[in-house]
Amino acid sequence: MIPAKFDYKPASSAEEAILLLQEYGDEAKVIAGGHSLLPLMKLRLANPEVIIDIGEIQDLSFIEERDDHIAVGALTRHRLVEHSDLLRENVPLLAHAASHVGDPQVRNRGTIGGSLCHGDPASDLPAVVLATRATLIIRSQTGEREVAADDFFTDFWETAVNPAELLMEIRFPKVGDQPWAFQKFSRRAQDWAIVGCAVQHGSNPGIGMINMGSIPVRSSVAEEALRSGNAVIDVASVADEGLSPPSDIHAEVDYRRHLARVLLGRALS
Ligand SMILES: Cc1cc2nc3c(=O)[nH]c(=O)nc-3n(C[C@H](O)[C@H](O)[C@H](O)COP(=O)(O)OP(=O)(O)OC[C@H]3O[C@@H](n4cnc5c(N)ncnc54)[C@H](O)[C@@H]3O)c2cc1C
Repeated sequence: MIPAKFDYKPASSAEEAILLLQEYGDEAKVIAGGHSLLPLMKLRLANPEVIIDIGEIQDLSFIEERDDHIAVGALTRHRLVEHSDLLRENVPLLAHAASHVGDPQVRNRGTIGGSLCHGDPASDLPAVVLATRATLIIRSQTGEREVAADDFFTDFWETAVNPAELLMEIRFPKVGDQPWAFQKFSRRAQDWAIVGCAVQHGSNPGIGMINMGSIPVRSSVAEEALRSGNAVIDVASVADEGLSPPSDIHAEVDYRRHLARVLLGRALS
């Protein structure tokens, strides 16, 4: 299928992209790797009149150590995240989860910012920003603001990024040697998760769930059980409590609930 007609505006800097976003507002969409936006345009689920291409803005692709966190630029490709020694050492959950995103072609093209701004509850990386309690930096012409991961995913495929804003970077707290785990259940290798979970242990443990709601969600009940020192079997048994998983051609609600409990049990073990 071919997308509807659109104007193409390449941006050479974040400032230029933000100016273009300001100028075209709701009519425009940023394109990064294009792996989520283009399929939506081909299916006529998105019909932007203007595409602002940020794919060549080198300044938005970086992985940097800063005090107590690692900052990852929004345009950083999954492959760089997957192979980053800095992330493997300081936020290993993120590097590991990135290696589970699609196949090598997808990881060479797709970006962390695109994955998060798409806001798909079936994606892998939103669960990681929830589990690690990351902070997202969003910029517009009026300035920059910080949004906690918990406030970033607002509705189905909707995020806190407004039409005139650009996601600039994501800040992940360093976790050192704290245990972590990532579990993803899919029908075939390289498929999207039917259900998955990302667990980051620490003084304030985080459990991000994949495909267990209409937006990316954490399992707060299981987090509380973990914080209280409950046994693995008891924490896992409440993995799906308070969550509303979808039913689709891949799995029904009860099956997803069952998977969530099994996968969290494996992750904690
Ligand atoms: C075959 C295939 C398999 C896949 N499998 C998986 C998988 O197993 N797990 C998984 O998690 N993902 C998977 N993906 C999705 C992949 O991770 C995409 O790369 C990602 O979802 C979108 O990244 P992108 O850079 O391509 O974003 P784009 O498609 O360019 O953009 C996505 C959305 O984000 C917005 N956007 C992008 N960057 C910014 C920014 N900096 N500021 C504001 N808005 C922005 C765009 O306007 C658009 O709305 C798969 C994709 C494909 C095609």
